[in-house]
Amino acid sequence: MEFNPPLLTSSQRTLSLFPLPLHFPLEIRTAGEVEFPPPPKRHAPPLQQALNTIESTLVAMGELAADKHVKYILAVEKRKDSFESAVLEHLRMNGAYWGLTTLDLLDKRDVVDSNEIIEWILKCQHESGGFAGNIGHDPHILYTLSAIQVLALFDKLNVLDVDKVSTYIAGLQNEDGSFSGDIWGEVDTRFSYIAICGLSILKCLDKINVERAVNYIISCRNVDGGFGCTPGGESHAGQSMFQFTPRIEKFLPCSMFEVFCCVAALAITGALHYVDKDLLGWWLCERQVKSGGLNGRPEKLPDVCYSWWVLSSLTMIDRVHWISKEKLIKFILNCQDTENGGISDRPDDAVDIFHTYFGVAGKTVAA
Ligand SMILES: [Zn+2]
Repeated sequence: MEFNPPLLTSSQRTLSLFPLPLHFPLEIRTAGEVEFPPPPKRHAPPLQQALNTIESTLVAMGELAADKHVKYILAVEKRKDSFESAVLEHLRMNGAYWGLTTLDLLDKRDVVDSNEIIEWILKCQHESGGFAGNIGHDPHILYTLSAIQVLALFDKLNVLDVDKVSTYIAGLQNEDGSFSGDIWGEVDTRFSYIAICGLSILKCLDKINVERAVNYIISCRNVDGGFGCTPGGESHAGQSMFQFTPRIEKFLPCSMFEVFCCVAALAITGALHYVDKDLLGWWLCERQVKSGGLNGRPEKLPDVCYSWWVLSSLTMIDRVHWISKEKLIKFILNCQDTENGGISDRPDDAVDIFHTYFGVAGKTVAA
């Protein structure tokens, strides 16, 4: 297979760090692929059309409580003795990524001391080249990607020994093309995405066998158009990413995360033609419920974090027009705490930094 990475272009600098190419390779339809009809065009009656226009206008008027969210993020960082800080201690690197990227999306990156953050990130690096979730913890490919992303956010990739970090990531590739998360060897397609994304930002994709990496991801494709953690795994298996406490586990929606990871890894490596876009697009757009929110699988409640996983996956396969972005934005805005800042998983729940990030990112992509 010829490897032609697509040019990564994005009007949103931060979102490009995922990286999420907004201009994708032309779709290549393979022989024998099932043709699915496009979703029916809705011809709303004149009154309904007028109501839709009014609704769109009202939604457009609703805005993110940006200043409140900035204050909330800064307050979370200061509350080091809280319960949330204690359980998040070992994944502080991810928390830093979520919080700082949100600030960047809100155009407030300058409210933090970048030198202090960079100093702390470098203290989390191990001799192996990998990064830990915090000082004194074990390195993992997930925290390594977050460290790379935060440094890229501040245009400080130059402080990295790129060869050392990329060698660490490349060293986690297995013979069959899959990736382990760390030295303990757990294999998951999510780690494939993390490795490919990290190496892509470092411009070191040539350090791994991309063809085998792509073939492994394809081997995890399911009949429903989705992807599993491993070959034969269900598209929506509820396996946790790490041994998190139940409180943290809810932060990591596996099903949609897997779909996003596999689609994004194929997008970065220029291999999106292996995705049955209509089949996957149908499954993804059926995730939108009446309230406008998106769920992770049928019969489940909507959750703000799926806004990002579903929306970005639909964007990558060029099917984002199959859902109502207006209704989704309305749902996200309804999950804001307009008094104290922060965004929750669904209206009236407690806010957290994870959903604040995915809410702001989802709103940015949808807008
Ligand atoms: Zn969630």
